[in-house]
Amino acid sequence: MRSNSSVAENYSDRNVFAMDTFMTIRAYGDNCEEALQSAEEKIKYLESIFSVTIEGSDINKINNSHGNAVEISPETSEILGEAVKICGETDGALDITLYPVLNSWGFTSDDFRIPEPKEITELLEYVNYSKICVNGRNVTIPDGFQLDLGAVAKGYTSDAVADILRENGVESAVINLGGNIRTFGEKPDGSLWKIAVRDPFDTENDMCVIETREASVVTSGNYERFFEDTDGQRYWHILDPLDGFPADNGLVSVTVIGESGLYCDALSTALFVMGEDMAVDFWRKNQDFDMILVTDLHKILYTDGIEDCFENFTEMPAEVIRRD
Ligand code: ADP
Ligand code: MG
Repeated sequence: MRSNSSVAENYSDRNVFAMDTFMTIRAYGDNCEEALQSAEEKIKYLESIFSVTIEGSDINKINNSHGNAVEISPETSEILGEAVKICGETDGALDITLYPVLNSWGFTSDDFRIPEPKEITELLEYVNYSKICVNGRNVTIPDGFQLDLGAVAKGYTSDAVADILRENGVESAVINLGGNIRTFGEKPDGSLWKIAVRDPFDTENDMCVIETREASVVTSGNYERFFEDTDGQRYWHILDPLDGFPADNGLVSVTVIGESGLYCDALSTALFVMGEDMAVDFWRKNQDFDMILVTDLHKILYTDGIEDCFENFTEMPAEVIRRD
């Protein structure tokens, strides 16, 4: 426990490494240790059931099921149900059955390679979220299909951690799952939470800060995980399910601000795939989140819900997108 002299603020930090990510949870108030311990245990448990590589995880069992039904835990059933719904709402820009293609690029193993177009076309036969059948605690996918929750697991986990902290009497906290941030409750000094978003063109520095009440703020960017070929061409880890290549539709980073961590995580990936025009259309139709888009032409676009609490630190022009 440390204390901050200016506002007599007590907090406890807990660092956890899970899901390939350095996570930090800061819980404000006295006696948060038990709550943080429960949160850490929940994170480890969710990793053990969601991981695509851990032998015996729900996802690993589904991926080795050869078309047979697999019994899964309630959490896996919940995340799959929600994720499949968002795959549909985003018209397949999010597709959690992309794993065979991600694998062929080496994004799952770090053995990076550029697959032949023919290989990708063949693997795309096994990509289609609408073939996932979740029926309560049972899930079935066609033989050859494989799931990967990489685009949504941290968002779901941030919601689960918030729930556990709240159940354990914590009134406010910041849950930082490696760029996937969720605040809950009021900041003890009554001010708004300030959340910085990284500059995708200068990843050591912040691009902007937004001030919010309780919210999730999730960023997907092409700088998070990538490799380069001998010509310096960059290939990144968010793929367009339409052609199986890294999504290259004009955006380099997408930040989504909303209530649910899972929804924001899913959308940050999906809107990145869609590109500027479709992302703006999607926002106008749905209106249940705010977003910050950064284009490959070094322009920032942000929605009007965060107009009064957005501060740009860069030289890039920043334009507000309005509802109509
Ligand atoms: P990060 O985990 O780096 O914060 P994202 O939330 O955007 O980033 O998730 C990217 C991960 O999602 C990839 O590593 C991959 O496992 C998976 N993925 C990539 N493209 C898609 C897609 N179009 N739909 C669903 N999952 C994807
Ligand atoms: Mg995501």
